[in-house]
Amino acid sequence: DIRTPEELVAAAGDLDLSHFWMPFTNNRFFKANPRLLASAKDMHYETTDGHKVLDGTAGLWCVNAGHGRAPVAAAIAAAAQTLDFAPTFQLGHPMAFKAATALAAIMPAGLDRIFFTDSGSESADTALKMALAYHHARGEAQRFRLIGRQRGYHGTNFGGMSVGGIGGNRRRHVSQVWGVDHLAHTHGDAVRFQRGMQPSNGNLADELEELVQLHGPETIAAVIVEPVAGSTGVLVPPQGYLQRLRDITRKYGILLIFDEVITGFGRLGTPTAAEYFGVTPDILTMAKGLTNGSVPMGAVAASREVHDTVVNGSPAGIEFFHGYTYSGHPVAAAAAVATLGLYADEGIFAHAAGLAKVWEEAAHSLRDCPNVIDIRNIGLVAGIELAARDGAPGARAMEAFHRAFDAGLLIRVTADIIALSPPLIVSESQIHEMFGKLAEVLRQTA
Ligand code: PLP
Repeated sequence: DIRTPEELVAAAGDLDLSHFWMPFTNNRFFKANPRLLASAKDMHYETTDGHKVLDGTAGLWCVNAGHGRAPVAAAIAAAAQTLDFAPTFQLGHPMAFKAATALAAIMPAGLDRIFFTDSGSESADTALKMALAYHHARGEAQRFRLIGRQRGYHGTNFGGMSVGGIGGNRRRHVSQVWGVDHLAHTHGDAVRFQRGMQPSNGNLADELEELVQLHGPETIAAVIVEPVAGSTGVLVPPQGYLQRLRDITRKYGILLIFDEVITGFGRLGTPTAAEYFGVTPDILTMAKGLTNGSVPMGAVAASREVHDTVVNGSPAGIEFFHGYTYSGHPVAAAAAVATLGLYADEGIFAHAAGLAKVWEEAAHSLRDCPNVIDIRNIGLVAGIELAARDGAPGARAMEAFHRAFDAGLLIRVTADIIALSPPLIVSESQIHEMFGKLAEVLRQTA
């Protein structure tokens, strides 16, 4: 009768792996070759058989302050013992308001009305519904169209999936939100091995102008983009691109949504990518780093204009007919407050900013490794694209993933692109260790 996590780890070899249908996983492969993580501290994971792995991906882009942080764990324990659950429908509890205030303090000026969710997917769908509610409240309910972008990822729920632009996430789930269109993605094949932002490409954002003319501005509710596309392989925007989207959306009364689930909380060295690029959207979505990955929580920051229009422009009663049982959950809210405190106390975003150049140099040192066809970077993110094997797309990067893990390095792969995004507490020597290990792995991966 196993009860504690330690007992579970000790008995890992006897676990029944059949019942957990794993997400975004090759279940058949995993269950034949399980890799089980037992514990994590600072920059490392340890497996159930004692193998230590340097975390090159901050878990899944979320553990920005490093693993096993005591202040976050203590806040979670205290919250769970004090108020395990409290509804936030027509009731409240102090920690949710405290978390919203702490989060609002690091948002771009004016984006200080916070709606809590439980994940990045829920944040995307919340933001889209918020945009529709905004236009409805202004008497423009005919604005129903949502514009996303190819190679965009906004999670797996129906709204986010529909505005997202990943074939595998869309094609097998045929029913989509109606009235969606997509911009072209921002990655120019001509610009390989570009350090940081791509040079200006004036025409790319102007495609939005064409979509506006095609559909009619009076039918478009919102445009949603990741400032830097993460999950589809680190696509860094061209200079001026986001500002141009801002200008066009403003011109036509269309809301601009930035999905900052990955770029938020210091990934680029600033609290938000909006701040990094100097472009402020109307709505900004977050998750992951909000609680340092410790407890599921997402959030949507709305401008006062969006919030006030919906709240003041609706008939008496519930203004925004939306929310989740766990919106502002006491334990998650406590984790968020502790995490935001940690980011500030330890200057973690500034630390990341200070290492961005070292990171860039180290990433581009892989240029001459076998099969590397592109390297992209910004902040503490890098994408290393490999040539696909004939007839086996993704196989080369997946082999690199397994080799890296066995060599003690966690990387993330999507198709044949390797993405690296370490906890932001990474040291300079750990950056060199990471890219040194990866170079070795690439040399071994035919
Ligand atoms: N949006 C972006 C930009 C993401 O990168 C992700 C996840 O990687 C999501 C949304 C979905 O977040 P979640 O998996 O928490 O639902």
